[in-house]
Amino acid sequence: MAINNKGLRVILGTGGTIAGKASRPGDNVGYVAGQVRVEDLLAGVPALEGLPLEVEQVAQIDSKDMNFGLWKRLLERLVHHLSREDVSGVVVTHGTDTLEETAWFVQSVLRPVKPVVFTCAMRPATALVPDGPQNLLDAVTVAGQADVHGTVVVCAGQVHAAQHVAKVHSYRVDAFDSGDAGPLACVEEGQLRWFHRPPAASPTEVRDNGLLEWVLAATELPSVQIVTSHADTDGALVRALLLAGDADPSLLPRGIVVASTGNGTVHLDLGQALNEAMARNVRVVRATRCARGRVIPDPSNPMPDSAGLSPVKARITLALSLLADAAGRP
Ligand code: ASP
Repeated sequence: MAINNKGLRVILGTGGTIAGKASRPGDNVGYVAGQVRVEDLLAGVPALEGLPLEVEQVAQIDSKDMNFGLWKRLLERLVHHLSREDVSGVVVTHGTDTLEETAWFVQSVLRPVKPVVFTCAMRPATALVPDGPQNLLDAVTVAGQADVHGTVVVCAGQVHAAQHVAKVHSYRVDAFDSGDAGPLACVEEGQLRWFHRPPAASPTEVRDNGLLEWVLAATELPSVQIVTSHADTDGALVRALLLAGDADPSLLPRGIVVASTGNGTVHLDLGQALNEAMARNVRVVRATRCARGRVIPDPSNPMPDSAGLSPVKARITLALSLLADAAGRP
């Protein structure tokens, strides 16, 4: 296999199933995530031997438990390594459950020029046929490509943009999909076959609009909750949030993302509760709960759409926007 071996790549471990261990080798579900150290994962991929690689264990968690503190730690390590001249790209091993959220968070805050390549596995390292080693090999390949920019996700031979990728399957090894946008490329025997090129990279490694500084200075993100519009809903969750805010203003969420039906429609009763929230200065954004498609922009709707972002990514974008506002964005 021809593997791109140009440039030093740093591999940051954060845990996940790729580092998971089961007590029986045939067990693909009864395992504990985040057990194997990242250097030991590398040792299990002989094809990586001799490549210029550095490893660092940033965390060791099941990504269902990802939190803002760890996101900040990951940002700090990424900023450090991306600013090194000898580093051509960074790989991040991560659990699949919240991978799309961390990838979108990193892309939104850093907008890196060099490749930041998230990878993962659906089967633990102890599986009879683990998928992690091939994903890691592919991710290292992608992180060494001069024509890859920004944050991407590599899984099951495909390269996805952070903006579009989502976990769409709870069990299959090809668990990720980019919806209508499709994958950017696939990795075939160490070569990339592009389907579409991402937009040209911005000229700086780390965006200098203050967002990174504000994120690193924050102890938490502004609170943004997600509610789903569904049959027979009544807006009780939103009203409970407003009531909590009456009792203690610090508990009032700053934003709500509604995972709306279809093209941004919201149940009448939930809509009334959301209007009450907006009257209390809570910012409300409509994403769609559909697996594909987006909420088509409608300037006449007082609840703006999520610009095509899924509910979990729209939550991050709204929280970052609220943070920037609080920090006095010009
Ligand atoms: N629960 C695991 C995690 O997200 C699932 C996985 O990695 O596939 O860490």
